[in-house]
Amino acid sequence: MELLDSIKHQGQRKKLIQELNTMGVESKEVLNAMQKVPRHYFLDSSFEDFAYQNKAFPIGEEQTISHPYTVAFQSEMLDIKKGDKVLEIGTGCGYQTAVLFHLGANVHSIERQHALYHKAKVVLTKMRIKAHLHYGDGYLGLPSKAPFDKIIVTAGAPEIPQELFKQMALGGLMMIPLGTKEQMMTLIVKTSETEFKKIEFDNFNQRHFRFVPMLKNKQ
Ligand code: SAH
Repeated sequence: MELLDSIKHQGQRKKLIQELNTMGVESKEVLNAMQKVPRHYFLDSSFEDFAYQNKAFPIGEEQTISHPYTVAFQSEMLDIKKGDKVLEIGTGCGYQTAVLFHLGANVHSIERQHALYHKAKVVLTKMRIKAHLHYGDGYLGLPSKAPFDKIIVTAGAPEIPQELFKQMALGGLMMIPLGTKEQMMTLIVKTSETEFKKIEFDNFNQRHFRFVPMLKNKQ
C-alpha cells in the first residue's frame, strides 16, 4: 500500500490540531508532532475519511486507536524532551509511537497481540519512523532497557504494574489510566526507589474516555 498524504488530509489534520488546542492542549511541541503524523496511515481504508475526527476507531483484534485528545493529553503531561528514553505499553496501530518519535523520544513500545505488532512495524517502517517495537507482555516492561525517563500506558490497568514502577528512572514520569471499567488518568512521579507522587486528572475523566483493558500475557 502506498502512503499518500493528500492536501485534503493535511487540511483536516490542521483542523483537528486546532480543535485539540481549543480543548486545552497547549504544548507547541505536541501539536507540531501531531501535525506531522498522518493519522489515516494507521486506519483501514474504510475509516480513512474519518481519521481526523476526534474519535477512537477499530484497528483489528478488538482494539482501537486512541482518541487524538488522549494521545495529546498523555504526551503533554509526560513533558517529553528530546532524547528521553520512553517506554510505551500497547503499541496498537503505532500512532502514539509515531507522535512520541516526532517529539524526539527514543521509543520502545510493547504490544501483546502479534497481528498488531506486525502491522505497526510495517507502517512505521514505511514512514521511516525509528522506534523499537517489541512483541511481548507489557506488564513485564523491558528490564534490559531500563531505566526509562517516561512510561506511557495506553490500556486501562487495574493498578500500577510493579515491574513498570521498578523500571522508571528516579524523577521519571508514568502516565497510566488506572481502573477496570472506568479509568482515572494518573500521573506517577517516582520520588525514590519505593515512593511516588500520584496526580489524578479528574477533568480528563469527565470526558468519559474509555481504554481497552491491559491484559495479562496471552500464554
Ligand atoms: N497506543 C495505541 C493505543 C492502542 S489500544 C494508539 O496509538 O492508538 C491499547 C493496546 O494495548 C492494544 O493494542 C492492546 O492489544 C495492548 N495491550 C493490552 N494489554 C497489553 C499488555 N499486557 N502488554 C502489551 N500491550 C497490551
